[in-house]
Amino acid sequence: MGLEEKLPSGVLLTTVEQIVGFVRKTSMWPATFGLACCAIEMMAVGGPRYDIARFGMERFSATPRQADLMIVAGRVSQKMAPVLRTIYDQMAAPKWVIAMGVCASSGGMFNNYAIVQGVDHIVPVDIYLPGCPPRPEMLLDAILKLHDKVQNTKLGVHREREIEELEQRRLRA
Ligand code: SF4
Repeated sequence: MGLEEKLPSGVLLTTVEQIVGFVRKTSMWPATFGLACCAIEMMAVGGPRYDIARFGMERFSATPRQADLMIVAGRVSQKMAPVLRTIYDQMAAPKWVIAMGVCASSGGMFNNYAIVQGVDHIVPVDIYLPGCPPRPEMLLDAILKLHDKVQNTKLGVHREREIEELEQRRLRA
């Protein structure tokens, strides 16, 4: 007989890792960070039709220090790249990034010197969302996939990622 069957009903068995994952995914606050046309679709998820409040995420934070999700909505110009990186660095860890649309993911149709050819040259990306622009439903789907990823991330992984990044920056300096 399994342990669960021996216990009275109503007792929930879990692990610290599962609880931390659940808390993190259900208290995720996005940073206010629209860059171009994709941002209009991102704003739509905040309205009643798509209702991102269902996931506890309606509070788009105006300060990066109270945000743990960066949705890069639009093409990133070379001039904006250091600003984006500064905002990412100011966000509290653990933090996640969604590259929304082809421009943020790969430069898209802007294959030229002025546009960063994928925001992953600047910050680590967790989810790449295709489309030009992706519809709000697609963004919600990406957010749910990110929630799954957060739920199943082992404790300490983000710390390792941060240390790795710091080491890479030290080598580049
Ligand atoms: Fe605009 Fe399309 Fe680029 Fe999004 S992917 S920023 S909608 S051009």
